[in-house]
Amino acid sequence: MGKILIIEDEEAIAELQKDYLELSGYEVNIEGDGVKGLGNALENEYDLIILDIMLPNMDGFTVCKEIRRVKEIPVIMVSAKKEDIDKIRGLGLGADDYITKPFSPSELVARVNAHLTRYQRLISNSIGNNEVIEIRGLKIDKTARRVYVDGNEKIFTTKEFDLLTFLASNPNHVYTKEELFRNIWDMETIGGIATVTVHIKKIREKIEVDTAKPQYIETIWGVGYRFKL
Ligand code: CA
Repeated sequence: MGKILIIEDEEAIAELQKDYLELSGYEVNIEGDGVKGLGNALENEYDLIILDIMLPNMDGFTVCKEIRRVKEIPVIMVSAKKEDIDKIRGLGLGADDYITKPFSPSELVARVNAHLTRYQRLISNSIGNNEVIEIRGLKIDKTARRVYVDGNEKIFTTKEFDLLTFLASNPNHVYTKEELFRNIWDMETIGGIATVTVHIKKIREKIEVDTAKPQYIETIWGVGYRFKL
């Protein structure tokens, strides 16, 4: 089950996608314009977005970029032109998948199912009543505030735990040190953004096999950090 937003200006295509997705049990809304689509995507909670590229008022590239600034939900981009695929890849928009027109509705449904299953499994595994994030060998039990690496518990300080959990809860999102500092610490904390660097180092020592080649928290030079899915 899930709630899907289709942003597509060709009504016949949008309705066809909607019918197939509803038959598969999804709740579906349609917007026929880039600006309205973005507004709807940001104001409401969706599990996945299907986004056409050629749209009135704002193109799909821009819509995708804007959604990615605040949301990590899967985005499947739809294009009528093959050359758009290279652009989607090249721009690093953060789209999860792309599909070219014409495509069969059942192929679309299969991709939607696959992305939602993967996303839900990665983001929030529920063990008992505890909220758990599990990515590769790393397991963060948000409820019990405990961290395990390959089954072995690692001891985290409060701020290390908060920082790791914040990053892991927003995977693939690049945060500046300032943003991380603002989210985790009180403004009065001595040390400012240098504190972030120190904590990232300590977290890596606990969760990474090789801190020189981090597989979880990636440094984006000149920008900040990103938790890799
Ligand atoms: Ca279009």
